[in-house]
Amino acid sequence: MNAVRRNKTSVQSRKRVSGSDSDHAGEQQPESEQGLIVANHGVHVAVRDHNGRFWNCTRRKNIETVVAGDMVVWNAEDNHSGVVTRLLPRRSLLARPDKSGKMKPVAANIDQLIITTAVSPGLNKNLIDRYLVATELIGGTPIIVVNKVDLLNDRQHDNIEHEVSAYRAVGYRVLITSAKQTLGIDSLSDTLRNHTSVFVGQSGVGKSSLINALVPDQDIRIAALAEAIDHGMHTTTTTMLYDLPHGGRIIDSPGIREFGLWHVTPGEVERGFIEFRPYLDKCKFNDCLHDAEIGCAVKSAVAKGEIDSNRFESYLNILSELKDTAG
Ligand code: GDP
Ligand code: ZN
Repeated sequence: MNAVRRNKTSVQSRKRVSGSDSDHAGEQQPESEQGLIVANHGVHVAVRDHNGRFWNCTRRKNIETVVAGDMVVWNAEDNHSGVVTRLLPRRSLLARPDKSGKMKPVAANIDQLIITTAVSPGLNKNLIDRYLVATELIGGTPIIVVNKVDLLNDRQHDNIEHEVSAYRAVGYRVLITSAKQTLGIDSLSDTLRNHTSVFVGQSGVGKSSLINALVPDQDIRIAALAEAIDHGMHTTTTTMLYDLPHGGRIIDSPGIREFGLWHVTPGEVERGFIEFRPYLDKCKFNDCLHDAEIGCAVKSAVAKGEIDSNRFESYLNILSELKDTAG
C-alpha cells in the first residue's frame, strides 16, 4: 500500500515570503517566493511561479524530495533557474517503493483518485476494490470511471449499469465514459474541477486517452515546459502536473498509473470497505477479521444481502494475499 501522510495544515499560495536566513542583519538575501512544483524528474524539478513562469530548480540538500503538486519556497539564481529552499506542509502524499523497497514520494496534495477501468475485457472489480482501499488510506475521494462504453450493445450496457450499482449503493461516484466517442467527458471534467486528481488503473483501459481528451493541448504544454527548464525531460518518466481548461489539475506519470497496494495492514483493508463500518462494533470479537470467526456481524450482513457479496469476496481476497505476502 502506498505510504500516506496527511497534514491538516493548509497551504498558503502565491505569497511572497522572506528568505529563510533573512533575519541575519546586514546580509543581502535573494528574495524568496512560493511556487508550485509542476514536474519532477530525478533531482530536477520545475517550479511554476505566481506569474505562470517555469523555473528549472534543484533542491537544497537539507530538504526532503519534492514532487509534482508540492508547494515550495524557492529563490531564483539566474534568469531561468533556482533553488528550492523549503517544502510547505502537504495535505497528502502518494508514494511507492523504489527498487530497494524504500518508499519514495511520487505526487503531493492529491485529493481525488480516478480509478479507471474498462468494459472490455471486463470490469476488474477486485482491482477497483483495491484502489478504493488505497484511496481511503490517502484520505482522498475515489471516482470510478468505466471507459470504452462504445464497445457495448444495449443489453451489455444494462449489465454494466447493474454491475456498478453495487458501488453507487455504497456511495461511490461512478462515471461511464468513452474516450473514443467523447462520451461522459463533460461529467468527468466537472468532477475534476477544483481538485487535484490522478488517474490510476491497469494498462490499456484508456487513461492516456481520457487525459488527452481532458487536456487537449498536452503536447504543447509539455514542449513549453521542456523548453523552459532545459534539463533532459523525458515525457515517458517525468511526473507532470496539468491544469485543466475548466479548472482543476491532473498529475500524471507512469509511476502513478501503476500505483499498487503496498504495506497494507488488515485493519487498513477493513477501513477501505466503508460499507462494513456500521457492523464492525457488532462482531463478537473486537479483532474480528470477518473471515473464519463466529458471531461476525459483517458476514451475517452479507448473508442478509445488506453487504454486496462480490465486495465481501474481494475483501477476503485482499486479506488472504496479505497473509501470503506476510509468509
Ligand atoms: P492506458 O494504458 O490506460 O493509458 O490506455 P490508452 O489510453 O493507451 O488506451 C489503450 C487502447 O485502448 C488504445 O488503443 C486506445 O485507442 C483504446 N481506447 C481508449 N479509450 C477507448 C474507448 O473509449 N473506446 C475504445 N473502443 N477504445 C479505447
Ligand atoms: Zn466480523
